[in-house]
Amino acid sequence: MLNRARTLLKDIYGYEEFRFGQEKIVKGILKRRDTLGILPTGGGKSICYQIPALIFDGITIVVSPLISLMKDQVDTLNQLGISSAYLNSSLSREEYAATMRRLRQNKIKLLYLAPERLINEKFTNFIGGLNISFIAVDEAHCISQWGHDFRKSYLEIPRFIKSLGRELPVAALTATATPKVRKDIIEKLQLENPMVYVDGFDRPNLKFFVKKGEDPEQFIVSYLEKHRRQPGIIYASTRKEVDSLYAYLKLKAFSVGKYHGGMDEKERKTNQEEFIRDKLRIMVATNAFGMGIDKSNVRFVIHRNIPSDLESYYQEAGRAGRDGGGGECILLYNEEDVNTQEFFIDNNEETSDKLKMEKFKKLDAMVNYSSINSCLREYILKYFGDKRIKNYCGNCENCHGAEDVVDLTVDAQKVLSLVGRSRSSLGSYTVTKILLGERDSKIERKGLDKLSTFGLMSHYKRNELEEFINYLTSEGYLTQSAGSYPVLQLNGRSFDLLKERESLLRRKDEVVSFDYYEDPLFERLNELRREIAEKEDVAPYIIFSDLTLMELAERKPVNRW
Ligand code: ADP
Ligand code: MG
Ligand code: ZN
Repeated sequence: MLNRARTLLKDIYGYEEFRFGQEKIVKGILKRRDTLGILPTGGGKSICYQIPALIFDGITIVVSPLISLMKDQVDTLNQLGISSAYLNSSLSREEYAATMRRLRQNKIKLLYLAPERLINEKFTNFIGGLNISFIAVDEAHCISQWGHDFRKSYLEIPRFIKSLGRELPVAALTATATPKVRKDIIEKLQLENPMVYVDGFDRPNLKFFVKKGEDPEQFIVSYLEKHRRQPGIIYASTRKEVDSLYAYLKLKAFSVGKYHGGMDEKERKTNQEEFIRDKLRIMVATNAFGMGIDKSNVRFVIHRNIPSDLESYYQEAGRAGRDGGGGECILLYNEEDVNTQEFFIDNNEETSDKLKMEKFKKLDAMVNYSSINSCLREYILKYFGDKRIKNYCGNCENCHGAEDVVDLTVDAQKVLSLVGRSRSSLGSYTVTKILLGERDSKIERKGLDKLSTFGLMSHYKRNELEEFINYLTSEGYLTQSAGSYPVLQLNGRSFDLLKERESLLRRKDEVVSFDYYEDPLFERLNELRREIAEKEDVAPYIIFSDLTLMELAERKPVNRW
């Protein structure tokens, strides 16, 4: 069946191959498994359910939150020769009846529905009488209150699925879902033993910036002047703010349009289309703008005000660089905007106290993002539970050029291998002492000074080493047990470092002292370590003292130790 899927991909869509995540998700659906697919914006989620829809017999139901989104998709599909339709409140009586007729005649492959439709029992009964192949829920995060875009009507979906009374597979798709939201989607949609595919969230071509204490208007104008002819979006948090920024930029003779929920639909639409067709260079908008808009050459996204959470931020910022070309994502940070967001949360009558707490937490994470000195990308990816994280990306404001980092993988391996050897019996105080090569009665009594790691990091100063071990713990490469005598323990990420599936890069200005790393001997030792490990077929994480290492390098062949 997968071959059939590939043929369709080529013949109908004209694409040579599936993107990695797409193939996994399509496979899951084709096996008729419940599937949760998380792909970044622009990752190609539509194809994930459209192709199975073509392969299966019967009609595929697609639940989608926005009328404009449905229309775009259905138009495109019909142009591709795939018979599809939508039912929502924008249809005239006649159009509605015609679609119902085509459905009865089994002339439609994909039917897009607004979740509001699903409340109507007569309607769901009608759907129940059709030959349905499976159900796709697009923008599935809308079902979760913990998500950033909760839609009440999405809560109707589970009942609808149940009412169909058959074992229909459900495919849920979204671009943004923290682990918590993922769990919520699975529970709410009652996905059974779902195949979950989460793509990495990283968008390496995007560069992140946070600007503090700038005059927003001035900053924006000078940015726009420096980036002539580049299309971009400027988000502001209120309609009023959009109106005033728009007027200001218009006055400065920029090619600019605006978009927010308070404008009439026709004007909004015209602006959107002119922006997409490059007739307007800049769009000033509230967060009402963007969902489902496929404009690939957006070169920058500026946030005039801090958004309410990182989910919104990353989704909106992620509209830059969808063609894979460069994209700059700039957040302007001002204290007053945080107050405004707090005000929004506090004064929302509909929000329960529990939910308020949750929203404050999210806002805190967003504010925190604006204040860190470490890698912005790392922060985002961690937030979304992405496993493939480096703490230095080289492509955000806080990571400068590559010359500013140092590779600390080997030093981390030294610490981790001692912790491993000790079978989690040592606290960080003793670990520090052993690595520094300091004896005390406990160390001598236990023979810890005989370990090969004893004195292995004597080139560190005590405070540097303490800082480093703290760093490993706080970044999750080591676990510190609870209790009154906490000990250090290895965890999953420790092994990623030990087995070199991950490397530990740190910005130099974060580290206390770097004299040692500028020493050519350090480089040479690392080289040796790797050479020997390779020759002897051991993982490099079996640590030799620097001296042993140099000895080993002199003697050939090498004995077992
Ligand atoms: P999403 O819903 O995940 O944001 P879309 O489904 O709108 O993304 O797809 C984004 C773009 O990627 C579309 O232009 C789509 O045609 C294109 N696309 C999807 N799959 C592939 C593929 N396998 N190869 C190349 N382009 C693809
Ligand atoms: Mg989509
Ligand atoms: Zn970075």
